[in-house]
Amino acid sequence: MAYSWLKVPNDSDFTIVNVPFGVFSVPGKSPRAATILGDTVLDLSLLEEAGLFDDIMPIANVFCRPDLNTFIEQPKAVWSNVRQRVIRLLVEPCEDPRLKENSALKRASFHHIAEVKMHLPIHVGDYTDFYSSREHATNVGTMFRGKDDALQPNWLHLPVGYHGRASTVYVSPHNVRRPYGQLQKDANDPSQGSEYGPCQLMDFELEMAAVVGGAANTRPMTIEQAKSRIFGFLLMNDWSARDIQKWEYVPLGPFTSKNFATTVSPWIVTADALEAFAAPTSAGLQDNPTPLPYLQDPEYGSYDVVMTVAIQSARQSQPNVVCTSNFKNLYWNSAQQLAHHTVTGCSMKAGDLLGSGTISGSTETSFGSMLELSWKGSREVKVGEEKRKFLHDGDVVVLKGHCVSDVQGHLGFGECRGTLLAAETAPLSPTKQGVVAEAPTTDRYQNFKLYGYWRSSSTWRVRVALAVKHIEYETIPIDLAGDQQKSEGYLEVNPFGQVPLLECSDVLTGGTIRLGQSIAIIDFLEEAFPLRKSLLPKNLVERAIARQMAEIINSGTQPLQNIFSLRDFEMRSSGAINAAEEAKKANELGLGVLEKLVLQRRGDLSGEAGPYCAGGFCPTIADVCMVAQIYNASRFRVELSETCPALVEIDKLCNDLPCFKASHPDNQVGVPERAN
Ligand code: CA
Repeated sequence: MAYSWLKVPNDSDFTIVNVPFGVFSVPGKSPRAATILGDTVLDLSLLEEAGLFDDIMPIANVFCRPDLNTFIEQPKAVWSNVRQRVIRLLVEPCEDPRLKENSALKRASFHHIAEVKMHLPIHVGDYTDFYSSREHATNVGTMFRGKDDALQPNWLHLPVGYHGRASTVYVSPHNVRRPYGQLQKDANDPSQGSEYGPCQLMDFELEMAAVVGGAANTRPMTIEQAKSRIFGFLLMNDWSARDIQKWEYVPLGPFTSKNFATTVSPWIVTADALEAFAAPTSAGLQDNPTPLPYLQDPEYGSYDVVMTVAIQSARQSQPNVVCTSNFKNLYWNSAQQLAHHTVTGCSMKAGDLLGSGTISGSTETSFGSMLELSWKGSREVKVGEEKRKFLHDGDVVVLKGHCVSDVQGHLGFGECRGTLLAAETAPLSPTKQGVVAEAPTTDRYQNFKLYGYWRSSSTWRVRVALAVKHIEYETIPIDLAGDQQKSEGYLEVNPFGQVPLLECSDVLTGGTIRLGQSIAIIDFLEEAFPLRKSLLPKNLVERAIARQMAEIINSGTQPLQNIFSLRDFEMRSSGAINAAEEAKKANELGLGVLEKLVLQRRGDLSGEAGPYCAGGFCPTIADVCMVAQIYNASRFRVELSETCPALVEIDKLCNDLPCFKASHPDNQVGVPERAN
């Protein structure tokens, strides 16, 4: 058995034989890729940044992304090499000391699991759910059609499945609300029609989901190809509303009874890690009937993964196991499902999810759904001291899975946890219909606060950017005239003691973000709200020109006319330097250069230029910096009408726009009376 120099209990789900992949975040940092050993989450993006995968990774910046899709789009050899590299870094005796001996890298990349938030590890493009456990299909068929007719004639010839809903695949832990839907009015007489109401028969389904990897196929896959494209596996709970399903499933299968929520565990256990636990399926052989050649798997089998479902009611202190099954209880394995999925030419992409179907065994305690455990509601299922036929509001459903062998040791999947919440009160009742639903706030960055000074031109730049993006914010005035920027309280917020400073919360990770320097703030707002109106031109060259113009002001003009610094120089030069004169000169020089660039740009666009600085038809970051600078220049009596007529014209144009008007220094909190 292999061990790690990071001490991990032998019965941990995440021993060194596992090395699964997931996506995590810590407050204030964006989601990125990770693996886990024991209770320690390892930030793979930092290991990548430190060059530990340079020789085995064909492309850069794979692990700093918010999902694993780019990584698992690579060929299987890349996934295997990366996992092997992580093992070599962590195994004892250590085979690659670059992590073990780098204490700064260890400090930065190791997090305790309790301190991180886990995210859905993949962007699920498409999700298909199969129906591949013979025991489950036989149970359900027997309940609804009788023993002799349990399996439909096609079932033993192909993996039956339906296209599921990718948009409602959630990562564990997740709260699921009991859905409303259409229910058959009379249980025994479908001709009576239906009524609208809350589901009464809520159920879980114990499943394993395969994650598809590799480059998209354009042709049907062979079994061998399919095997090389299964990246790994997740525990999956296919929440099911049985009464809605009963009424709607004829003749095209489940629809709204399944599309409201599917929960998966956060760590993808790789197919590589599971290889050591390969085992025959509960069917043993597939020889009656023998499948068509494209479905024949020379290594036909599944994996020996013990899978359990436990339920904890709102009154109970711990989950009670209600089902113990095994991933072996499959007739069609994941490679066969994938090969069949593509038989007509369907293209499968990295991040596609294949649910196994409910995994039931042959004994009554191994049934993977309440439908089977309660045998269609005909008997009570024991949940600790309580009993139920289907799920109750407040029930927490916990799926687990693990493998164990004398040679390999222990490997597990963590857990897939979901809590069933009570149904909303009549979500589509007549009184509620017609009322426009309140749009949920889905912005990742919220609660903006702007620390600034009414007259500071760089604060004005940020106010314009916030107005352009329609972001509401609270103004916190910092009185530069009263030296408030040097106060202890403000220096804690911004150690540089300057304005502006923008603060906001990151609701995805729970962190707080504080940013100084107006150009950095504007860049942040641009990337954080890419779908809103922008201060950056869409065209690359135009964008570079706008940034160049902005920098002529930001670093080439504004700091040189800073009256606080100039007064200091004036004093130290015993009056040889005149602060106001220097400020005036700096403004004249900078704005004069900008005027030339604007005219040059207009010339280059030969008559097709718009009215703004960079030659477009809406203001950009160049105009924002320019207008705020002209406001500064006016304080030093800089005369621009002769030298910079184009800028004066643009300034007037901008100051008529709402985003400049409302944010104008004269309209801010803290303006002294009769200020000019
Ligand atoms: Ca299912």
